[in-house]
Amino acid sequence: MKPHDGLYLDGAWRPAAGRDAIEVVNPADEQVIGQVPAGTAEDVDAAVRAARAALPGWSATPPAERAARLAALRDVLAARADEFAETVTAELGAPPKLARTVHVGAPIAVAGSYAELAATYAFEERIGNSAVHHEPIGVVGAITPWNYPLHQVVAKVAPALAAGCTLVLKPAEDTPLTARLFAGAVHEAGVPAGVFNLVTGLGPVAGQALVEHPGVDLVSFTGSTAVGRRIGAVAGAAVKKVALELGGKSANVILPGADLARAVNVGVANVMSNSGQTCSAWTRMLVHRDRYDEAVELAATAAAKYGDRIGPLVSARQRERVTGYIEKGVAEGARLVAGGPEAPRERGYYVSPTVFADVTPQMSIAQEEIFGPVLSILRYEDEEDALRIANGTVYGLAGAVWAGDEATAVAFARRMETGQVDINGGRFNPLAPFGGYKQSGVGRELGVHGLTEYLQTKSLQF
Ligand code: NAD
Repeated sequence: MKPHDGLYLDGAWRPAAGRDAIEVVNPADEQVIGQVPAGTAEDVDAAVRAARAALPGWSATPPAERAARLAALRDVLAARADEFAETVTAELGAPPKLARTVHVGAPIAVAGSYAELAATYAFEERIGNSAVHHEPIGVVGAITPWNYPLHQVVAKVAPALAAGCTLVLKPAEDTPLTARLFAGAVHEAGVPAGVFNLVTGLGPVAGQALVEHPGVDLVSFTGSTAVGRRIGAVAGAAVKKVALELGGKSANVILPGADLARAVNVGVANVMSNSGQTCSAWTRMLVHRDRYDEAVELAATAAAKYGDRIGPLVSARQRERVTGYIEKGVAEGARLVAGGPEAPRERGYYVSPTVFADVTPQMSIAQEEIFGPVLSILRYEDEEDALRIANGTVYGLAGAVWAGDEATAVAFARRMETGQVDINGGRFNPLAPFGGYKQSGVGRELGVHGLTEYLQTKSLQF
């Protein structure tokens, strides 16, 4: 079978039911680099059946053995890290260093954390005269976006396997090659047939069939709020559990006592990394009016330095969306201080790092998720004003606070309506719960909180 043929079903690569294919394009040069099957409802049905058949065996497998498979998976990911990084670069456009460190490094850490959690989590506890069992929820339908093609997959598959669930993965249509490599890694790690299944395909076809399938007990979705809302409605009608990791418009709040240069430079890097295609990116920078002009100048310089260091956006569609927002920002009266509207390059879906000053809270570029290398800088009068602006969107995924002392930053962070806040810089913690307040989602990923999403409890009274 040719390398890009077939779907990974019940432990082997098998032909898809239909003949339709999805072409994969390298966003840096617009060349077609592969083809994968566009799975149908029939394929999804076969995958869910395989997952259901494998459920009794896998859910009864001792946690220590599940932990051993996860440790093996982590080792395979680590051994094949270069191949994964090259694939992420080829289909997403991520610069090689970012691909190796963040795109592949983080999932290796996450897979390792679930190997450990599977071995140590108390799947059974005693509460008074009750024995409480934490049991796998069943068959999981996992649907992932393209922005971190390996991380998004591992953040669902690893906890699901640790919990004793079986699953069907429908990865994003723009980045299915990383998901195919991942299926090979799961196979190599010795995960039994049917426990993990992969159906590549289009969202409204294969994705929707997975959400609607009566054999799926939990839908775990990461993607846009628009699609998440629809998935929640369908699942709700069937009283099916959902976990939704959705969009964001996170605030980077720089309080008066902060180290301004550091806060601005780290803030710009945070937005531009991965070409702005990060759901938790701090896309709104909030600066006190007394230091506003200084911050704008620092941000413009930092963004200009970024220049060619960022990769392209994932697709032509995404570039159009982002340039559309840049034009809207200009039309609404924001002031461009870096980047801006530009003619498309001859090849590649590039957009230059862009910074808007004089952004007011009501503007589209201060309210809507752009998902590109675009920073909006807003001015605030005092702390209460900053808090009102920070909390003044429908989203609540992440954020940052910078202050002269930690206690001031923490006090402000506690009042933010958001799931994660980095204090004076912070550092990525693969064990900390990640997820959204408000319309940024339902549920949490990573660490023990991510594990419990895949469990349901039963109590036995004595
Ligand atoms: P998207 O919602 O268009 O697609 C996400 C996935 O859903 C893809 O696999 C797609 O095929 C599938 N899908 C599309 N329509 C579907 C339907 N009707 N039924 C079932 N599945 C369907 O999002 P995207 O463009 O791939 O990703 C970008 C979005 O994801 C951004 O809004 C971003 O903020 C969000 N995101 C959120 C997080 C988080 O953890 N909160 C992480 C990354 C990305």
